[in-house]
Amino acid sequence: MPDAIYDLSGKRVWVAGHRGMVGSAIVRRLAQENCTVLTVDRREVDLTRQDQVESWLDKTRPDAIFLAAAKVGGILANDSYPADFLYDNMMMEANIIHGAHVVGVEKLLFLGSSCIYPKFANQPIVEEALLTGTLEPTNEWYAIAKIAGIKLCQAYRKQHGRDFISAMPTNVYGPGDNFDLKSSHVVPALLRKAHDARMSGSRSVTVWGTGTPRREFIHVDDCADACVHLMKVYSDAVHVNIGSGSDVTILELTELVCKVVGFEGNIVHDLSKPDGTPRKLMSAERLRGLGWYPRISLEDGLADAYQAFLDGNYAERVQGTAA
Ligand code: GDP
Repeated sequence: MPDAIYDLSGKRVWVAGHRGMVGSAIVRRLAQENCTVLTVDRREVDLTRQDQVESWLDKTRPDAIFLAAAKVGGILANDSYPADFLYDNMMMEANIIHGAHVVGVEKLLFLGSSCIYPKFANQPIVEEALLTGTLEPTNEWYAIAKIAGIKLCQAYRKQHGRDFISAMPTNVYGPGDNFDLKSSHVVPALLRKAHDARMSGSRSVTVWGTGTPRREFIHVDDCADACVHLMKVYSDAVHVNIGSGSDVTILELTELVCKVVGFEGNIVHDLSKPDGTPRKLMSAERLRGLGWYPRISLEDGLADAYQAFLDGNYAERVQGTAA
C-alpha cells in the first residue's frame, strides 16, 4: 500500500449526504477512524443554496469533506425530472466545492457515478474514456452534472492547488437502498421480487429483459471503504473508478438473489422491458494500483442487503446519495 498522504486522525470530517446509501456507509466506516464526523440535516442546510452552505462551512470549518450528496434515481426518474437532476446536482457540488476552497478545506472527495462515461466506451472502462464520446441520453442530465463536479475539483486543484479528488463508483447496492420497483436499480428490485414471490407462494419471479446484459456491482460498505482509502492515499487530478473488477449476467445475478432469498421457483423474462446497455464494466486497475481490493463477495453482499431489507433499512424514494 502507498504511504498515507492524508491522515484522518484528529480531523473534523463532514459527510455531505449522510442520509443517502453511500453517505451513511461512509459515516459507518469513519467510526473506525480517529476523527470527528460532522453531518447536517437537509432541513437545517439546503445544499442547493449557496448562502446556507457557505455559512455552515464558515461555522463548522471541517478539515475534510466527503461529497456524497446528490439527487439520484433510476432511468425513469432521470428521464422525468431532467431539470432537477441537472440543476440540483450542479448547485450542490458547486456550492460545496467552492465553499470548501473559500474556508480552506484540506481535502475533499467528490463522488460521481459510472454513467459519466460514453455510452459506447471500450470495456473495461478506463478513467481516460471520460469525454471521448456521446453519453447515454436517458441519464445525460445527471452525467453532465457529475462531469462538471470532476472538472470543478480539477479546476480548484489547478488554479488554487486544492487537494480535491473524485471517485466514480460502479453500481452500488446494500443497506439503505431504494426498493421501490418503479425507480430502483436491479439488485433491490430482484431482492424484493424474489422476497414477494416467496412470501406469496408464487411459482415464478419476473426479470426484465433477456437476462444476458452484464453488470458490475459493489457492496456499499466496500465502496465506503474505498472512499476512505482514496481520501488517505490519493492526490491527483484524474478521478478514480471504484469497482469490483468483475461482472455477472443479469440471469446469474437473479439466480444468486433467489438462492439468498430462498426462492426456489422459476425465473421468467419480461421481454417488453429494455435490456439497456449490453455491458458496463469499469477498469479497477487504478484503484488496485493504490492498494485497494473489495472484500465482500456478491453472494455475501446480497445476503447483507436482503437482511437490511427485512430489517426495514431502505428508502422508497429518490434520495440524497451518490449512486
Ligand atoms: P442500468 O445498469 O443503468 O441498466 O440499470 P438497472 O440496474 O435498472 O438495470 C440493469 C439491468 O437489469 C437491465 O438490463 C435491466 O433490464 C435488468 N433488470 C432485470 N430485472 C429488473 C428489474 O426488476 N428492475 C430493474 N431496474 N432492472 C432489471
